[in-house]
Amino acid sequence: MEAFVLGCGGMMPLPYRHLTSVLLRRDGDLFLFDGGEGTQVSLRRLNLKWKKINAIFVSHTHADHVTGLPGIMMLSAQVDRTEPLYIYGPPKIAEYIETSRKVLDMYINYPVIVKEITAPCVVHEGDGFYIRAFPLQHTKTCVGYTLEELDRPGEFNPEQAKALNVPCGPLWGKLQHGQSVTATDGTTVTPEQVMGKSRSGRKFSYVTDTLYIPSIAKEVQGSDLLICEGMFADDVADQAREKKHMTARQAGIIARDAHVRKMGMIHYSPRYTDNDLEVLKSQAQEEFKDAVLTKDRMHFDIPYID
Ligand SMILES: [Zn+2]
Ligand SMILES: [Zn+2]
Repeated sequence: MEAFVLGCGGMMPLPYRHLTSVLLRRDGDLFLFDGGEGTQVSLRRLNLKWKKINAIFVSHTHADHVTGLPGIMMLSAQVDRTEPLYIYGPPKIAEYIETSRKVLDMYINYPVIVKEITAPCVVHEGDGFYIRAFPLQHTKTCVGYTLEELDRPGEFNPEQAKALNVPCGPLWGKLQHGQSVTATDGTTVTPEQVMGKSRSGRKFSYVTDTLYIPSIAKEVQGSDLLICEGMFADDVADQAREKKHMTARQAGIIARDAHVRKMGMIHYSPRYTDNDLEVLKSQAQEEFKDAVLTKDRMHFDIPYID
């Protein structure tokens, strides 16, 4: 699994900073988290050959998170596809997508399925993983997302199977699929006798445009990668609270409390130039040392740990 930060800015795109958006790739599936103005430019600059985004997850319907979606949808229509594009987001997302399609007479050659999120729930599922939405607290309804993989079965131990008189062949397959078998000596051999401990899956979390609320740490607990809003420095924490945004330090606190492996900050206020961002980094790192500043088109690998 890998994540590409398409943009890391908040409010408005800048000549050197696209708006907050993350592309996640897992086993050939592509998931896009938010898409403000210019997201397709950043996507193109990555020069990836993949055009079939499977699903788009929208945090909320503020312009800096959604005005790029019509462009992304038109880009997706440049290749043949029969698979639907799923779009998830808080109320109004369906109206926004429908109206854009109608008013702009968009040519879309594939089904678009929009689902509005009204309560915390699993919004999207696939083979071995699910994506869940959970509430954030912003000036309008806003949600965060986690992608969690199911545990993987432990490794099969062929030597142990042979020692228990289960010969190589179809019986091994049965054991690997959780069935008990009868060995050549008539004894029963269970999967637990020949399979190692199950291994945990990976977790990715995306959080932006919210007040600091302690429940976020619970939702993103144990993430391998947390992408989190760190919009302001400590000296304007009051303004952050008023506008219902988070400081870099609060992003660090969430990462620390959630015991995540790595945290990348996004949605920087346009008041900070790239040079000014160092202060956000140091304040976040005072709480969580593995905090990093994301940059446009930064790539994160999210490997299995065991
Ligand atoms: Zn925003
Ligand atoms: Zn917002």
